Amino acid sequence: MHQATTLDGKALAAALLPAQQARASQLTAALSRPPGLGVLLVGEDPASEVYVRHKVRRAAAVGLHSEVVRLPASCSQAALQEALESLNRAAHLDALLLQLPLPAGLDAGWALSQIAPEKDVDGLHPTNLGRLLAGLPGPQPCTPRAIMHLLQATGRPLRGAHAVVVGRSPIVGRPLAALLLQHDLTVSLGHSHSVGLAALARQADVLVVAAGVAGLVDASWIKVGATVIDVGINRRDKKLVGDVQFTAAQGRADFISPVPGGVGPLTVAMLVDNALQLAARRAVAP
Ligand code: NAP
Repeated sequence: MHQATTLDGKALAAALLPAQQARASQLTAALSRPPGLGVLLVGEDPASEVYVRHKVRRAAAVGLHSEVVRLPASCSQAALQEALESLNRAAHLDALLLQLPLPAGLDAGWALSQIAPEKDVDGLHPTNLGRLLAGLPGPQPCTPRAIMHLLQATGRPLRGAHAVVVGRSPIVGRPLAALLLQHDLTVSLGHSHSVGLAALARQADVLVVAAGVAGLVDASWIKVGATVIDVGINRRDKKLVGDVQFTAAQGRADFISPVPGGVGPLTVAMLVDNALQLAARRAVAP
């Protein structure tokens, strides 16, 4: 029976480690201090705690200095603004991450716009999202970068392929569509109001699913021989599952990314990569 190749995000992230370590030590020499990553964590969302731990661990493995600033879930917008301004000003921090989601009552779009664009490690400040759309260099959002890395790891040509992306959030779907266009794919971007999405998905050479709906995609959505990237992270019976029914998809796709162990570890690696890029700019123009 046909069996898709699993795209091992953990192994791909590990393979990037030596080059990142070498870059960090060059930058440490150039800056006379290690590159610095500041993380702002608001509230006590258990999943966010885990993600921040992974990010801090990877930063340490690469040779970055990192520090986590915590605010209570009940903090005011003014307190959040003050914390972001203080991290923006901190001369020893080159990169700044606001862990999402924010607790109810705090506006993530507004908060992201308060991060200095030159420290915006997630590439989610409106200026950097605009630069991405304009095709200008700048920090690019980490999860879309991770997805592009997985697609490149298949060795399949991307130019001219049809990509269907399910989900249009400003964090995943929208910036990913811009990156896919930069790589000359034809892009369809679906969302909760899309009509006939399964039939559209069935035409995709590349299917990326970022809806946050466990098991949304079954075999009938997948073209034989497609590459399927599952971005979703859902908790079901204390286990993490994606948006794609993995076993069913394995029987039709040629490549598939698992959850966990697919997009997630590479997103963390791309975050550190972005931090190194931002530090390198400051090494040139401190
Ligand atoms: P989000 O902001 O909730 O956006 C979800 C998107 O999916 C929206 O555009 C929504 O449409 C669409 N959608 C929801 N249900 C749908 C359905 N039944 N059919 C078609 N489209 C549907 O979520 P997000 O932040 O983009 O995250 C998406 C998933 O990826 C989540 O599970 C999240 O945990 C995961 N994630 C993983 C990583 C990673 O590193 N691995 C990073 C980020 C996110 P509307 O716009 O019409 O509402």
